[in-house]
Amino acid sequence: MDLTPSPPQAALRAECRVWLRANASWEYGIGLPPRFDTLEAEVEFGKAWQEKLSAGRWVGVAWPQEYGGRGAGPIEHYIVTEELATARAPELVGRIGVNLLGPTILANGTEAQRARFLPNILNASEIWCQLFSEPGAGSDLASLTTKATRTDGGWLLNGQKVWTSYAQFADWGACLARSDTEAKPQAGITYFIIDMRSPGVDVRPLRQITDESEFNEVFLNDVFVPDDRVVGEVHQGWRVANSTLTHERGVNPRQLVIHSQLLDALMQMAHRNGSYHDPQIGPRLAQAFTELRIFQLHNWRAVSRTSRGSDPGPVGSISKLWWSEMSKRMHDLAMDIVGPEAPLWRGASHNDGDGMWQRSWLYYQASSIWAGTNEIQRNVIAERTLGLPKEPSKPAAK
Ligand SMILES: Cc1cc2nc3c(=O)[nH]c(=O)nc-3n(C[C@H](O)[C@H](O)[C@H](O)COP(=O)(O)OP(=O)(O)OC[C@H]3O[C@@H](n4cnc5c(N)ncnc54)[C@H](O)[C@@H]3O)c2cc1C
Repeated sequence: MDLTPSPPQAALRAECRVWLRANASWEYGIGLPPRFDTLEAEVEFGKAWQEKLSAGRWVGVAWPQEYGGRGAGPIEHYIVTEELATARAPELVGRIGVNLLGPTILANGTEAQRARFLPNILNASEIWCQLFSEPGAGSDLASLTTKATRTDGGWLLNGQKVWTSYAQFADWGACLARSDTEAKPQAGITYFIIDMRSPGVDVRPLRQITDESEFNEVFLNDVFVPDDRVVGEVHQGWRVANSTLTHERGVNPRQLVIHSQLLDALMQMAHRNGSYHDPQIGPRLAQAFTELRIFQLHNWRAVSRTSRGSDPGPVGSISKLWWSEMSKRMHDLAMDIVGPEAPLWRGASHNDGDGMWQRSWLYYQASSIWAGTNEIQRNVIAERTLGLPKEPSKPAAK
């Protein structure tokens, strides 16, 4: 693993910094990221910001130039993501499209699908959601029951999805549905692109522990999907879905930078309130520092693999498991540093950070669930890295 940036990579980092100084509307590097009163306001700001970013060609850095990318590699993508996070730029509002579904269409879609969808994913003029999980199919995704039935010129979809992030803002959804009920679970699934404004799509926001509603239930009632919106082959959607899931667990420089910033803020808070010298606090700050450094090494190892053409595979699972457990420990530490005010929510007087730590603690509880739970990541690592025997499969339904 060679960690020395090439001259073009160093130049790209410098160019990105200059662009951010000129274009970020908050104080570069030292300001807080923008905060919003409502998710709607955040999405509106995010769309304008992503449009500006993509005009500067800072989104989809590793995508081909013909679709709005730079045609660069994973290391260049890593560098730009790191710089954006360092500048405290908001997370891309169209991240589901940019990080998951765009790369899936690039790898598995038709030329017409690529030309139609990819540029609008990059500039956030169209937002995407991922319609995979169902009430009875999360970790065991292959047991999904949303049904696709053949009709003239396409398919009719019926079923229910859940935990669908950003579905209420989405123009398009990538949906897995069972197109062959006779085949084995993984063999009868097709990967569809759904127009989220189609008749029969019913999106119902779910209230989260943070009091926000990022994710939703989505009901599909006779939703028509034309044939040209199937990604990959009919009944071969499981293979396409795995390409989406691999991208979900890959390299994560953004979380690395965000958690480094969190640790800096924690250090400052601990100095301010004197808890830094508490033997219950100081050693845990040192531990967090060490864990962050290890996460950085996992990231470098994963990006190094990807740049050599292999997918991150189980390395992505190790990285995801590591950072989400680290994040939860770091947030527990934050609550101990905040002290007796830890249970106080936003707007409470004398509350260090005005509820920021509390919100962040609640938010990151989900990090060990999204993108595959940590138990599932452990299974992947056990089977694919350590070579342990596969866990017994579920008995077939009678
Ligand atoms: C914030 C957030 C955003 C999300 N966004 C989306 C989205 O946009 N689109 C989407 O499709 N999904 C989304 N999800 C859903 C997510 O992918 C699922 O929650 C996840 O896959 C787990 O599925 P489940 O909730 O059904 O839990 P289950 O699969 O029912 O698991 C319940 C518990 O059993 C454990 N378990 C299950 N199977 C095994 C096993 N074989 N071995 C050991 N332990 C096991 C799990 O680890 C877990 O602790 C989101 C989830 C969250 C938290």
